[in-house]
Amino acid sequence: MIKRVGLFGGTFDPVHNAHVALAHAALQSLALDEVRWVPTGHSWQKHHRAASAAHRESMVRLAMAGTPGFTLSRIEMERAGPSYTLDTVRELHAAEPGTEWVLIIGQDQYARLHTWRDWPVLLGLVTLAVANRPGTGLQPSPEVQAHPHRAVPLPMLDISATDIRARVAAGQDISQLVPPEVARYIETHRLYTGTAAGGKTPHGS
Ligand code: ATP
Repeated sequence: MIKRVGLFGGTFDPVHNAHVALAHAALQSLALDEVRWVPTGHSWQKHHRAASAAHRESMVRLAMAGTPGFTLSRIEMERAGPSYTLDTVRELHAAEPGTEWVLIIGQDQYARLHTWRDWPVLLGLVTLAVANRPGTGLQPSPEVQAHPHRAVPLPMLDISATDIRARVAAGQDISQLVPPEVARYIETHRLYTGTAAGGKTPHGS
């Protein structure tokens, strides 16, 4: 039987409750065998990263813990240079034949998909799954819209990592926005405070 694996990429800087809700919704509503979280290494479109890759991975692992079906891939973190989703999908296709890859994204990424490298090739290799996200007001290009996609049922969740980083820097509460273990991790490691400690990895590398 063909395995169906959801691919859920992101900077996760930090991982937050909307990411967790989206991953759960995709796992259930798309009848996936697995949701594979894929933290980016060097994002080609986001340059504001505030926490190291090791911190971001640790926080994703805390958010995933206890959910059977959630796994994590370091494939993009281990790649030198910028991460392109197409490279990742090609590598996975070669390594795990007989798998249907379901690319899970929020509306903001959907609206930007026409800027992704070789996006038509990418869409030929995956099933696209898109979730609501408030605030963008942007629609995908007509060419992207012409491709079929599945909708992931997700309530509108007005949460973003950008807002969370700003709140932490301003000393505001984030306990409603991230899982408790992630909030504790951010506090322990003094992430996003704007001090030098935020950039260090848990392994000191
Ligand atoms: P930042 O604010 O730093 O840009 P982010 O909150 O958008 O970060 P990412 O790690 O870039 O988080 O997002 C990973 C994936 O999760 C993307 O596909 C994004 O569209 C989706 N996503 C993030 N937040 C939400 C949300 N509130 N609702 C729906 N999808 C979301």
